[in-house]
Amino acid sequence: MAHNVTLIRGDGIGPEVTEAAKRVLEATGVEFQWELAHVGDAAQDLFGTPLPDFVFESIKKNKVALKGPVTTPVGSGFRSVNVALRKGLELYACVRPCKSYPGVPSLYKDVDIVIVRENIEDLYAGIEFAKGNPETEKLIKLVKETKGDTILMDSGISLKTISETRSERIVSFAFEYARTHQRKKVTAMHKANIMKFSDGLFLSVAREVAKRYPDIEFEDRIADNMNMQLVKNPQQFDIVVAPNLYGDMASDLCAGLVGGLGVAPGANIGDGIAVFEATHGSAPKYAGQNKVNPIAMMLSGVMMLQHLGEPKVAKRLEKAIADVIAEGKALTYDLKPSAPADQIAGTSDVADAVIKKLEADNSR
Ligand code: NAD
Repeated sequence: MAHNVTLIRGDGIGPEVTEAAKRVLEATGVEFQWELAHVGDAAQDLFGTPLPDFVFESIKKNKVALKGPVTTPVGSGFRSVNVALRKGLELYACVRPCKSYPGVPSLYKDVDIVIVRENIEDLYAGIEFAKGNPETEKLIKLVKETKGDTILMDSGISLKTISETRSERIVSFAFEYARTHQRKKVTAMHKANIMKFSDGLFLSVAREVAKRYPDIEFEDRIADNMNMQLVKNPQQFDIVVAPNLYGDMASDLCAGLVGGLGVAPGANIGDGIAVFEATHGSAPKYAGQNKVNPIAMMLSGVMMLQHLGEPKVAKRLEKAIADVIAEGKALTYDLKPSAPADQIAGTSDVADAVIKKLEADNSR
């Protein structure tokens, strides 16, 4: 029976990388019934909103989506479609594996870290008060009256909120993930020394949750130190659980440790619902050039296959991708930094090469 999946092509490089991922997924022999849903600028032009209700309805119905990146206007314009989707569908866990594949030029050869990022709250939730608005002034006055702290009247404010409920949920998710994926350690990333009521709460909840999982080692690290440790000695980390903003930054940092955003997949997971997307954004300057690396999106497809209950096929697809990387021929510019232009593959060439590997595997 075909798997019903909502397909969001995104914008910028999104359509190219999702097409490549869709082609290799179909080449596995698993059947998909794709339901196309537009978001961002394309939806704005067609339906007058960057995030039509149909997108939510489609994902709620199908329970699974494969999503390309979507541009978020900087500073002004519509708010992030990505954040709205995660919040609207309560996709509370962002899972981002950063794994070394032989053949990828990278700083390290033996990294295997999974970032589990809280996906709904924290500074990233986008609860903001614009400079000069009456409600901003009200909030500034309230802070002065209740805390005695002065916030300048010409300030903009973004709220950092961290709840016990959502901290408990994400840390439990990280430990459950550790158990089901035979992982040994969970590290909580925080800045509880400074933000005692938000990160401090996250940490105290993490310590409580850890007691329920005596089979998994638990430790915590202050975020600034953790960044240094990640760069110097990443092999010491296994699963990293973090509030939203630190998790966002740590996942790009860890992608950099294993060869860059071109090889960093991801999933946004809620209760009974999941949206698979690469860590990278829409890289607008490369849009439409058949140039960028589709492997991050393909590996997100591997995660989707696992989620859909197709673990053997997921393994086969991951192996085909790993073989193409190891062979070193059909790779995009980011994985061949010193190769001459005529030896660099385009986005669709990488998909062709992975499909060939799958076909060779099928005929064996
Ligand atoms: P980006 O991830 O789009 O690109 C940063 C750089 O990383 C690119 O210039 C490129 O050099 C490299 N890169 C990214 N993807 C690559 C790939 N597949 N292959 C090879 N190299 C790749 O980050 P940005 O430039 O900060 O963001 C661009 C837009 O994307 C912004 O509007 C941002 O808000 C949005 N964004 C969306 C998502 C999402 O949809 N989930 C995630 C992150 C950023």
